[in-house]
Amino acid sequence: MKQYGVIGHPVAHSLSPLMHNTAFAALGLDCKYEAYDVRFEALRNAILEFKDRGFAGLNVTLPHKERIIGFLDVVAAEAKAIGAVNTIVDHDSRLVGYNTDAEGFSRSVESQRSHLAGTTILLIGAGGAARAVAYVLLADFSPSQLIIANRSQQRAEDLAARCEALGTDTRLEVAGLAGWEIRRAVEISSLIVNSTSLGMAPEVDRLPLMEGVTFRYDQTVMDLVYTPMETAFLRKAASAGARTISGLEMFLYQGARSFELWTGQPMPIEKVRPVIENELRKQSS
Ligand code: NDP
Repeated sequence: MKQYGVIGHPVAHSLSPLMHNTAFAALGLDCKYEAYDVRFEALRNAILEFKDRGFAGLNVTLPHKERIIGFLDVVAAEAKAIGAVNTIVDHDSRLVGYNTDAEGFSRSVESQRSHLAGTTILLIGAGGAARAVAYVLLADFSPSQLIIANRSQQRAEDLAARCEALGTDTRLEVAGLAGWEIRRAVEISSLIVNSTSLGMAPEVDRLPLMEGVTFRYDQTVMDLVYTPMETAFLRKAASAGARTISGLEMFLYQGARSFELWTGQPMPIEKVRPVIENELRKQSS
C-alpha cells in the first residue's frame, strides 16, 4: 500500500484525507492518506521519518509551507518563485517540492480570463496563500494593475517586492484594509480576491472589508476561505449581483493537481466534490 498524508499544525480538521481517500477508492488504488500533526520545531525530524517510512507523497500546510523548502532535494521553478511548497513527491528517494495552490487558483478563475486581462485586480491579504495567487495573476492573467491590501502594511510591501522581482509589467500598489484607499481599490477592480482567513469558521461573520464597501454586478469576487462554502464575503458580493467563486474550487483543484503528481492519474473530481460538499454542509449545520 502506498502512503500519503498532510503535515501541518493544527491539521486535525483538514478535509484533505477525505478528498484523497475518496479519490483513491473511486479509482481502486491501494493507497492511504492521513493527517499528521507536526509542530514547527519538529519539521526536520518528521520529514526524515516520512522518507524512512517510504511515504510516496505529502501535502504541506500551515505553518510549514515556506520552511519545508530547506528540507527538500529539488523544488519546482514555480514553487521556488512563489516561495512556498504544498506538495512533496518522493521520486526515487529524492524529495521534490511543488506548489499546487497556484494551479488550484488558476483553474478556479479560468472562466474569467477574458474579463481580467488589462484590468485592475484587488488581492486582500498577503500571507502564504496570497503569494501563490499573486504569482498566478501576474504570470497568467496579465492585469494592468494589482493592488495588494493587507492589515500589516509591511507584509503587503514584502509581497509587492516579491512580485516586482518577477519582472512584471503589471503596476503594483499596496493598501491598508481601512479608509479611502480600499474603497477606491474595490471600486476600480474587476476581480477581488480574499486571501485572508477572515470569515473562516467559527468566526463566520467577519468580513475582510470594512462596513459600507459595496460590490457591483460586473465584478467577480473570490474567497479562498471554504469553511463555510459560502462565506459572509461571498454572500455580500452575490447580493450585489457580482459573480462569486468559492474557495472550495481552489481546494478541489489544488488537491487534484497533487493527486495527479502522485498517481499520474486525474482525480475524479465529480466523485470527490459531492463528498466534500456534504461534509462542509454537515460541519456548518
Ligand atoms: P497566513 O497565515 O499566511 O495569512 C493570513 C492572512 O490573513 C494575512 O494576510 C493576515 O494579515 C490576514 N489576517 C489574519 N487575521 C486577520 C485579522 N484579524 N484582520 C485582518 N487580517 C487578518 O494564511 P494563508 O495565507 O496560508 O491562508 C489564508 C486563508 O486562505 C486561510 O483561511 C486558508 O484556509 C485559505 N486557503 C485556502 C486555500 C484553498 O485551496 N481554498 C489554499 C490555501 C489557503 P496580516 O499579514 O496582517 O497578519
